[in-house]
Amino acid sequence: MKDSNFLKEKNARSFWHPMAHPADSLANPPTIVTGARGVRISDVDGHEVVDAVGGLWNVNLGFSCAPVKAAIAQQLEALPYYSTFRGTTNDAVIELSEELREFFAPDGLERAFYTSGGSDSVETALRLARQYHKIRGDAGRTKFLSLKKGYHGTHFGGASVNGNANFRTQYEPLMPGCYHIPAPYAYRNPFGETDPEKLSQLCLQALADEIAFQGAETIAALIMEPVLGAGGVIVPHENFMPGVREICSKHGILLIADEVITAFGRTGSWTGSRHWGVQPDLMCTAKAITNGYFPFGAVMIAGHVAETFEKDTTGRASIGHGYTYSGHPVGAAAALACLAETKRLKVNENAAARGAELYAGVRAMADKHALVGDVRGGQGLMCALELVSDRAAKTPIDKSTIGKVQEAAYQSGAMIRVSGPNVILSPPLVLTSDDVQTILTAVDAGLSAVA
Ligand code: PMP
Repeated sequence: MKDSNFLKEKNARSFWHPMAHPADSLANPPTIVTGARGVRISDVDGHEVVDAVGGLWNVNLGFSCAPVKAAIAQQLEALPYYSTFRGTTNDAVIELSEELREFFAPDGLERAFYTSGGSDSVETALRLARQYHKIRGDAGRTKFLSLKKGYHGTHFGGASVNGNANFRTQYEPLMPGCYHIPAPYAYRNPFGETDPEKLSQLCLQALADEIAFQGAETIAALIMEPVLGAGGVIVPHENFMPGVREICSKHGILLIADEVITAFGRTGSWTGSRHWGVQPDLMCTAKAITNGYFPFGAVMIAGHVAETFEKDTTGRASIGHGYTYSGHPVGAAAALACLAETKRLKVNENAAARGAELYAGVRAMADKHALVGDVRGGQGLMCALELVSDRAAKTPIDKSTIGKVQEAAYQSGAMIRVSGPNVILSPPLVLTSDDVQTILTAVDAGLSAVA
């Protein structure tokens, strides 16, 4: 066994973690994960737990997906890299594009533009949205709308449409021309409205008001997650996303669905947009597209948007955007194998069934633990418990206490994620009912530890 204290010291002196204070890795050394199998991870000290985070909402098929590992190994042997910039392509990415086109056909999406991850996908979608309007001679449409509490990655474009100050304040000034409307977040919202349907209407009205205020002719696109993930698993009322679609269509504003988390089955449907009966103009994907085994993403493009680019005669449609790793053959091979396994195992169905068990279990915890202010989820395998130190005042729990919840849950059998005052659960979609029980027991123990 490796010496864990020595590794933790080395980690602290040589490595800065994303989304963490650089000094924190000495004060609160991270768990050193050294292995994984199925839906479980094990650490350097030999402790094994169910991974209720699912990597980072991406390891949908678990850690032992042999076909994906084999596809990666084979592709590395045959062609480890080549660029897809104009002039060259590769067979893996051609085949993947055909498969994705079929998979996303019900969403009206017909072309793929490849990226290296979610933030790249968001950046790509924002750029393509502006370019779409320029091609059409509508160059005044440059602004973006998004939801407060939304998360869209950390590039400057994505951070600008991000709806959480933690990812913005230290990096301002961000991109001008980005405006945020209230999210349909029933537990806390500026309207004091707790009824989901009424709240949805109020948020849609706020959107319509913002468009009138800005002038529709200045707005390129609205970006939203069908279920808000990192912001704390906010599941909108069923009228919300269709309402957004209707308003965007009425005003010529493109709708970008950020499905970096929700595409490929997490919500119980194959995509979050499909779940709400909405066809977006652009869709950002990443994460589960390769089950987390390779950094990769794709922006899917609606037929009418593709046509605008492809039929352009003005010369404005040439795409001055792309990444060294766009269409990476190893990523493409991983994605192809992943998609085949995702469909074969019908992981969306297991996400819906196990998600219902998990949600029922965490809801029951709200009755037992005064610490639980709100429980959200119920749409596939993603849940959040928002913890408070005072239920009546809805005072968010402090960082140290929620850290203790996480530690106790880990000791009791599950890795959970904490983000602000939220415990977030997003396990692999292939977990069993027994695994769900293990997670619930661990969360319960975590909450009991600080009660
Ligand atoms: N969009 C959404 C909705 C996300 O959840 C994330 C990542 N959690 C991103 C974009 C950014 O993805 P990445 O971390 O791969 O850049």
